[in-house]
Amino acid sequence: MRGVTFLGDRKLELAEFPDPTPGPRDIVVEIKASGMCGSDLKTYRAKEGAASLGFGKVSGPLIAGHEPCGVVAAVGSAVDERTARIGARIMVHHYAGCGTCRHCQTGWSQMCSNGTVVYGTTGHGAHAPYMKVPAYTLVPLPDELSFTTGAAISCGTGTAYQALRRMNLAGGDNIAIVGQGPVGLSATQIAVGMGARVIALDVSAARLARAKEFGADAVIDPKADDPIAAIKTLTHGAGADLALDTSGAPDGRLTAIRGTRAWGTVCFVGEGDNVTINVSPDMLRKQLTIIGSWTFSTVIQADCARFIADNNIAVDHLFTDRWKLEEAEEAYRLFDRQTSGKGVFLIN
Ligand SMILES: [Zn+2]
Ligand SMILES: [Zn+2]
Repeated sequence: MRGVTFLGDRKLELAEFPDPTPGPRDIVVEIKASGMCGSDLKTYRAKEGAASLGFGKVSGPLIAGHEPCGVVAAVGSAVDERTARIGARIMVHHYAGCGTCRHCQTGWSQMCSNGTVVYGTTGHGAHAPYMKVPAYTLVPLPDELSFTTGAAISCGTGTAYQALRRMNLAGGDNIAIVGQGPVGLSATQIAVGMGARVIALDVSAARLARAKEFGADAVIDPKADDPIAAIKTLTHGAGADLALDTSGAPDGRLTAIRGTRAWGTVCFVGEGDNVTINVSPDMLRKQLTIIGSWTFSTVIQADCARFIADNNIAVDHLFTDRWKLEEAEEAYRLFDRQTSGKGVFLIN
């Protein structure tokens, strides 16, 4: 089979790889949809041979992509019928761990005590017709959901859902969501579905228009208006009950902190970079709770899919570009410019 592999310095190729066969506890997924994620760009843009996400040294060409969704194509000899049957529609929790430490056993294999494999970064990913994964990392895809929705839930949308759960978002809360890329837009859709009032922030007019379309009550462009003052105006001077930063930018994080009311909660999901705060006024004297949230567990991924299906959240509308694997060069060239929305490869 042929899979997309990043060569570094914004180069990629469709290279030949052997068709995967399952070990005793594995299954092989026939990939139907493989999403493109902002974190793939770190690998795409990395210097040749760099281990760009800090998960260790990669040896040999590696298939990219960590938002896998498809059907079970082959099952290992030690996998029982209840775990996987041929043809079942599934998503994949996009990490593999030892399977026995407490993190793995609670569905958080990205935190495995013995080291995790991240698909597309330290293990073969989903930008190919087939992918081998441990059977315990499968998550069922509800019949109501498309394979593209499943791909989004497998990373960006699932990340947004878990962050909102961590923040204990309740109907009637107002929440400022900083950054309206795929994770931020997912958070907007889900928070609206949970009954919250969303204030969406982004420097792109196109992204703000989509946030409005997805149910945001108000939008703010921090380049045009002071974002903290604007949030306060929209919340009777108090600040938002909750704020979620998906931007990962120092300014975005500060807006989330300073735009949140006393006793409020701020959550960071945007990766990388730093933030400097003035602890007494920004945090301590506001009794502020600041939390970090990194992706989600297998159980939360299943909950997210159920929530999306039951509440008719239009996750498919996140996708602005649908590609064939043969178009990978063009797909990543466009994605690299960050002017479009989310892309997905449709395979098989
Ligand atoms: Zn991702
Ligand atoms: Zn483990």
